[in-house]
Amino acid sequence: CGIVGIYDKGNINAANGAYYGLVALQHRGQESAGIAINNDGIITCYKDMGYVNEVFDDKILSLLKGDMAIGHVRYSTSGASFAANAQPILIKFKNGNLAMAHNGNLVNAEALREQLEDQGMIFSTTTDSEVIAALIARNYKGDIVNAIQDTMDMVKGSYALVIMTVDKLIAVRDGYGLRPLVIGKLDDGYALASESCALDTLGAEFMRDVKPGEIIVIDKDGMKSMASSIKMPKKGCLFEYIYFARPDSIIDGISMYKARENAGKILAEEQPAIADTVISVPDSGTPAAIGYANESGIPYSVGLIKNRYVGRTFIQPTQSMRELGVKLKLNPLKGNIKGKRVVMVDDSIVRGTTSRKIVKALRDAGATEVHVRVASPPVIHSCHYGIDTPTTEELVGAINPVEKIRKYIGADSLGYLSLKGLLASVDSDGDGYCTACLNGEYPIPLDCRR
Ligand code: 5GP
Ligand code: SF4
Ligand code: MG
Repeated sequence: CGIVGIYDKGNINAANGAYYGLVALQHRGQESAGIAINNDGIITCYKDMGYVNEVFDDKILSLLKGDMAIGHVRYSTSGASFAANAQPILIKFKNGNLAMAHNGNLVNAEALREQLEDQGMIFSTTTDSEVIAALIARNYKGDIVNAIQDTMDMVKGSYALVIMTVDKLIAVRDGYGLRPLVIGKLDDGYALASESCALDTLGAEFMRDVKPGEIIVIDKDGMKSMASSIKMPKKGCLFEYIYFARPDSIIDGISMYKARENAGKILAEEQPAIADTVISVPDSGTPAAIGYANESGIPYSVGLIKNRYVGRTFIQPTQSMRELGVKLKLNPLKGNIKGKRVVMVDDSIVRGTTSRKIVKALRDAGATEVHVRVASPPVIHSCHYGIDTPTTEELVGAINPVEKIRKYIGADSLGYLSLKGLLASVDSDGDGYCTACLNGEYPIPLDCRR
């Protein structure tokens, strides 16, 4: 998911800012979009299924007047994909009300939900996010920051949150810093966003990342940082760097583009190939393919044309829709492929759907050899922290050795980047990142899932 927050005193069009921020974060979720607005302390929300520009038009935005707003784009990792589960979540409680948007996934949501239901709480969605909102409401005894701190002591999992109260905009990042969240400066206010690319779109000046375990409060007195009591080792999600975040974003000091280009360079050292051209699987594989070409000396060329009107294919909920999606999305450029030995670089292989189709399409277009190079290690475990790699049965890397995957996707050779190489691409010798989907080392124990 993607989240934004706008605090822009005196500008009653904060919803427009949230809208543009969400469009910049559309790659983080394409199922639903929503904006909550604060008009002089009165909080309302508009949300629906679909892309940001399908959910909102000028008319709807013009009805959302107020100088504080938060927004959300969703792809579901917990809770089904329907309108009631769209965000932001709006809750009213004794002495207050708030809106909240969540990116991440709790591992103990079910247990917490059961406890709350036993105590008489009624839920209107099936999301873990509503559990967080309900806990904040229940823990509220007059001070919102205390309520959030108490909630952080209870929830386990990944969460980047933007929360809007009657007079405050609040940002929260879980203790591991699993999901990203950045702060930007507007002329007369502040902007919060999952990724810095949204700040660029808004013309906000990048200030810094929200720190793991930090609570940022923005109100009429400016911006304050409050530490929470939780202390964990930093574990940024490596998949943000591999694939998920936009290449023009910078997370915790590392440029996504640079990291992917580095990964491609290291991949060329670790997994060389003899070929005539290096092509990428656009767009996610492009920075790594450029790195691979530069390091290997094999010329880079455009080998696949992407139909820009098709979204991220994996976000489609069923496998048959995903497969059709790949065909609609990518078409070989025959002139650059025919009679050539091709190195095809992608950022990752998750289900294997994309690679299998493209290798076949490249052969049909006349490629004499297709060498697939992947700028990350095999994905062998499910993520429980908010990236949708759901079951191990669906992960082609989980059940099959590399040679079997090579056969399945129909490549002449297949080479993956090592975990060491991937960590080197983000300047790490092993610390600071979650690597659970690649090596099974889950920073948050899974036995607390219930
Ligand atoms: P595949 O077809 O092997 O599943 O994936 C191919 C491309 O889509 C890769 O660029 C990969 O990063 C992306 N992708 C596929 N499935 C998922 C998924 O479930 N989660 C994420 N984050 N990326 C995926
Ligand atoms: Fe990211 Fe993988 Fe960790 Fe999930 S398991 S948070 S996708 S690194
Ligand atoms: Mg891709």
